[in-house]
Amino acid sequence: MRAHLLNDTTAEHYRRSVTEGVERVARKLATTRRPFSGVGVDDLAPVIDRIDLDAPLGDTSAVLDELEDVYLRDAVYFHHPRYLAHLNCPVVIPAVLGEAVLSAVNSSLDTWDQSAGGTLIERRLIDWTAGRIGLGPAADGVFTSGGTQSNLQSLLLAREEAKTTDLARLRVFASECSHFSVQKSAQLLGMGRDSVVSIPTDHDKRMQTLALARALERCVSEGNVPMAVVATAGTTDFGSIDPLPGIAELCAQYGAWMHVDAAYGCGLLASPTPARRALLDGIERADSVTVDYHKSFFQPVSSSAVLVRDASTLRHATYHADYLNPRRAAEERIPNQVDKSLQTTRRFDALKLWMTLRTMGADGLGSLFDEVCELAEQGWQLLAADPRYDVVVQPTLSTLVFRYIPATITSPAEIDRANLYARKALFASGEAVVAGTKSGGRQYLKFTLLNPETGVDDIAAVLDLIAGHAEQYLGENLVHAS
Ligand SMILES: *Cc1c(COP(=O)(O)O)cnc(C)c1O
Repeated sequence: MRAHLLNDTTAEHYRRSVTEGVERVARKLATTRRPFSGVGVDDLAPVIDRIDLDAPLGDTSAVLDELEDVYLRDAVYFHHPRYLAHLNCPVVIPAVLGEAVLSAVNSSLDTWDQSAGGTLIERRLIDWTAGRIGLGPAADGVFTSGGTQSNLQSLLLAREEAKTTDLARLRVFASECSHFSVQKSAQLLGMGRDSVVSIPTDHDKRMQTLALARALERCVSEGNVPMAVVATAGTTDFGSIDPLPGIAELCAQYGAWMHVDAAYGCGLLASPTPARRALLDGIERADSVTVDYHKSFFQPVSSSAVLVRDASTLRHATYHADYLNPRRAAEERIPNQVDKSLQTTRRFDALKLWMTLRTMGADGLGSLFDEVCELAEQGWQLLAADPRYDVVVQPTLSTLVFRYIPATITSPAEIDRANLYARKALFASGEAVVAGTKSGGRQYLKFTLLNPETGVDDIAAVLDLIAGHAEQYLGENLVHAS
């Protein structure tokens, strides 16, 4: 059994095993013709349930053969140009290489004595990101597991910096299109569900600053405390960017913490196109920023960070333990990242971004994101000119929200059902994967474009497939009704 431990004597076994695994995945990537097999839960669950976990196969090849049946054949492949659903990106090779290195060495980034150079590499990337945002000389931050955790930590810091400890009086302001992790965080932070004030958005799904101003005024006049405003730079559904400079003004006026949730829009930080980078103007005034490298920096899950303007605010996440990060270590200026993190044992996810920047550079990464934003613009033109579809907003980033509208008069509820059906039927066919969401209470479909390999022809083809399924549903229903 020792043969399976990775060490000096098993280096050759490691090389052969990993190479064999890489070979299989490479073959899979090269031969996958559809983003999904279309398998259903009822078909796949018995295959996985049948595996006897107490009867190991012992041999890498046999395990990889089995993996084909339990996972690889039916996985959802984000690298396929017709995977157009959620905020998942195809990944860049230098980052995948980084992933292989970091899990083999298995550093843990909680303390210097479990990571050494890993800690310094993470710190350089935090400084690099903060520099791109423009947070100033006192900035700092830490890698996290994702945007959800980054938002939670930001709101924790905001709560601790707030002018009252009376949790019942604290209010957080976020647009109606903000991410649900804002509500979850408020709940976890003991502030209750009513503490998050939803601010309406304009036609372009951007927070209305006038409405925010009124809400802040009302908050204060009611004797409550505006703890934080969460501005979303790239809403999950529409990719819309809240008016950051106006929000920054209001935050300054009311003494509220400004958090920018750039989980999606952060890709613009690397854009070599000044006009695109300018979409984030005002982000430099934030007190904290969420960035998800695993969304628009083409990094494998997970890779994310929270950045703060004032490093000293991170002390609200600092606890000392004699067994890990004694106070003495901080006094000796030993860099223990756990002092800034909600996590303890923590992956060296920063290595993936490091390998990526050292291989491709920021411009290389940023131009990939630029490409998908341009593709979304072309997709929008296609949709706007297509009488079969209603499209919600012209994209700022790379999402398109639209719905199929039949030529014959049909009730809105029936149109909802036709769109839901089309999405499900498309998923079951495996030909393409698209997402769904609601807008104005009605059922819509969504493309999240993050693959530069997707072409306008793919978008056109998928729109035809969706229309086909929706027409089939409505046709069948008409037959059924008559
Ligand atoms: C995806 C997303 C999040 C959550 O990030 P995870 O990495 O999935 O935890 C938060 N905010 C926005 C705007 C997002 O799009």
